[in-house]
Amino acid sequence: MAKPTYEGYCETKPTKLIKEKFGDTNVYAQNAKSLLTKANGFINAYDFTLNPYRGCQYGCSYCYAAAFSPNTKMRQDWGKWVIYKENAAETLLKELQKWYTKNPQRPPKIYMSSVTDPYQPLESKHQLTRRLLEVMLDVRDNNHPTPTLVIQTRSPIITRDIDYLQRFQRLRINMSIPTGSESVRRDFEPRSPSIKARLNALSKIKKNIDNFKGFVPKISITITPLLPTLVTDEIAFINKLSIADRVVIQDFHPTYNRSLIASTRPEAEEIKQKYAWWYQNQQFSYMKFKDKLISQLTGVEIKEGKDGFGYE
Ligand code: SF4
Repeated sequence: MAKPTYEGYCETKPTKLIKEKFGDTNVYAQNAKSLLTKANGFINAYDFTLNPYRGCQYGCSYCYAAAFSPNTKMRQDWGKWVIYKENAAETLLKELQKWYTKNPQRPPKIYMSSVTDPYQPLESKHQLTRRLLEVMLDVRDNNHPTPTLVIQTRSPIITRDIDYLQRFQRLRINMSIPTGSESVRRDFEPRSPSIKARLNALSKIKKNIDNFKGFVPKISITITPLLPTLVTDEIAFINKLSIADRVVIQDFHPTYNRSLIASTRPEAEEIKQKYAWWYQNQQFSYMKFKDKLISQLTGVEIKEGKDGFGYE
């Protein structure tokens, strides 16, 4: 079958038209053949990855997922287009039914999401992720155990779904906060929510879910990739991380000029020049920050890279 072509990103007649604009983002709608993708590589501890959207409005300068864009032009324009999977809920339902027919008592382990943010701004309107949570929870009505779920996001919109989140027996929320300095955040990820908003979201989740209301989720803060934090912000930032039970650090992915291989975008390489005090000896900066995490945070697991991304 011919690959779809997207209005604004092709020379010939597009097969997918811009359905709406959301801010400065072109939004396209498309039916997905499947929602659950066999997990491999970095997250092979899971059965599946689940991406409700393709593309991501946050458009972070270092995002490795841009390499999985439909074409080169869209890769360069990462952050300015999103495809939402119109039939996501129905497709997931069918796939889960198939899984539970084969494994009635073994819940799948699902990582949501590997190449998009399931709570990017568009989610506030389309509620695709919310409907997927609903589908995952409905399986309990058929006496199947609810999936083990890890949600990776940097968005406070996740707090909208506390009513559903607290019904997952095995849930980990990974909140991405790669730096403790707002100015650094603005340089590397200018379209994303503030650090404060992300920490407040975790605090709201913790305050609103207790053992009487539901199952308390595990909480990780993923400092991935580890960006510089200004010396003046460092102590306060590390103290705030104690809201999580796990902190994960990791360096940038390498930069490749190839599609379909996780790769740091060239934009981030340029921004790094501004932070030479950190990057001229990146390995040293990384180790120094890691040592500070270990000495300052008690009762919080400190993990690195792949090791930190599992549910357990
Ligand atoms: S939020 Fe995640 S998926 Fe979206 S652009 Fe940033 S790093 Fe990429």
